[in-house]
Amino acid sequence: MPNASDAVPTWLNAEETMFRAEVRRFARTELRPLVAEIDRSGEFPRAAIETMDSLGLFSLAVPEEHGGADASLGLQCVVAEELAYATPVASLVVSPSLVTALILRAAGGDVADEYLKRVATPMTLTAVALSEPDSGSDAASITARAVRDGDDYVLNGRKSWITNGGIADLFCVFARTGSVADRARGISAFMLDADTPGFSVAKLEDKMGLRGSTTAECVLEDVRLPATQLIGVEGGGFRYVMEAFDKTRPLIACVALGIAQAALDVALLYAQERRQFGKAIGEFQGLQFLLADMAIALESGRTLTYEAARLVDLGSPHTTVYASMAKSWGTDVAMKITTDAVQVLGGFGYVKDFPVERMMRDAKIFQIFEGTNQIQRGIIARELNAWARTEARA
Ligand SMILES: Cc1cc2nc3c(=O)[nH]c(=O)nc-3n(C[C@H](O)[C@H](O)[C@H](O)COP(=O)(O)OP(=O)(O)OC[C@H]3O[C@@H](n4cnc5c(N)ncnc54)[C@H](O)[C@@H]3O)c2cc1C
Repeated sequence: MPNASDAVPTWLNAEETMFRAEVRRFARTELRPLVAEIDRSGEFPRAAIETMDSLGLFSLAVPEEHGGADASLGLQCVVAEELAYATPVASLVVSPSLVTALILRAAGGDVADEYLKRVATPMTLTAVALSEPDSGSDAASITARAVRDGDDYVLNGRKSWITNGGIADLFCVFARTGSVADRARGISAFMLDADTPGFSVAKLEDKMGLRGSTTAECVLEDVRLPATQLIGVEGGGFRYVMEAFDKTRPLIACVALGIAQAALDVALLYAQERRQFGKAIGEFQGLQFLLADMAIALESGRTLTYEAARLVDLGSPHTTVYASMAKSWGTDVAMKITTDAVQVLGGFGYVKDFPVERMMRDAKIFQIFEGTNQIQRGIIARELNAWARTEARA
């Protein structure tokens, strides 16, 4: 059987297949040699961002009329997986998908055009600032405030864990325009330029993995934004981000699966070469079954995730539950596969001479952000219960 990652997805057209090959070549020949240093230094090289930009990766999700490539979510997932095979950091630095999805969902007319063109502009990095020190899974409890003042809004508060915080040019920031009691209905979304007075980075996090992706705590101190930078309607922000997650959760799963594929490949090759008891360890059934289970898990995650992406591309009404299933299952299997890859390498898996310990550290975050996997299961259970209640009434 060929390695599953070598099989070109049958649904890609000829142009997309060539594009995938180009991204793969970049990831495996140019990016991969830099990965250990990115992990050590915590810095992602600007030159690599420039190359990814020249490949058109920044504007992938942006519709053609706003200067982008209008790629299907399926193709975006393929790209995310290919980059993550080298390093998930590349997939996150380059991905403006959540911001794009938010603008497409919330903004209309000139506002959408202006910001989508900005997203598609070379070297424009984006970030989404929803979480706060006391508001993670319970995102409807955020306390950052946006108060209307004439033609402006004035924003105050603290935002935590912002991916690309510190390097992004353009942020989508969530703040409360209603009362705390309004919960989700009181939250609005604003576009914000990184150099807006009053907006600053307070702290860069020192993380276990995904090093090279900056994660920042940001402060909003009397940040004055013209009301035109509100996207959508006042109070619509929470709804917009939850709907945008339906598009980005399959992408997040694909990034995790890209790491998992890389870990499985390292484990397979190592099992051929490492000899104990006079033979290659890959000849022991105990390890063969472990490797087979890793491959089964990977393919199950991949199949579910691409199905979730396909449903988004078809405009299906069932995207929320599939996106949550893909995100939780895809990232759970990636964590298991990377952990098992360390096991296959034994002691050598536990040290930095081999890349699997980094892959295991990198994989962990995917079970946590974009809604933890407990929260995903809560969403799935909620949707199942809603179906059951309707059926019971019928
Ligand atoms: C590296 C990194 C990058 C991030 N990037 C961004 C970003 O770009 N933008 C952004 O806005 N945020 C970002 N986040 C924040 C991320 O989305 C949150 O960390 C995540 O939503 C969890 O929130 P929390 O950390 O406060 O954990 P908590 O919400 O405190 O959860 C702690 C534990 O309790 C569990 N739990 C909580 N509530 C429930 C429940 N109802 N049922 C069952 N279990 C529950 C959780 O699953 C988890 O295991 C990032 C975080 C990290 C670490």
